[in-house]
Amino acid sequence: MSDWDEAGCAEVAERAAELALGVLLGHERARILAHLDRCGKCQEDVRQLTVTADALLELLPGSEPPLGFESRVLALIRRWPCPGRFAGI
Ligand SMILES: [Zn+2]
Repeated sequence: MSDWDEAGCAEVAERAAELALGVLLGHERARILAHLDRCGKCQEDVRQLTVTADALLELLPGSEPPLGFESRVLALIRRWPCPGRFAGI
């Protein structure tokens, strides 16, 4: 067996959701993409999942932090004990 064993249809089906969500990385991602280059059926399955994932992400409401959030965080950070202060840095 070589270092490079391309994924098969069953493995692609198992990992397709991770690929569509963009959380499949590195060697695993490369193996799946290599399979998609030569398998139209898996390519279509992943394309449909990607479209669905994108549509779901568009449903999420945008969120802004509440008014004054940044200034409250900065005030907390300024009050937080800094280890450098005790070390004389
Ligand atoms: Zn396939």
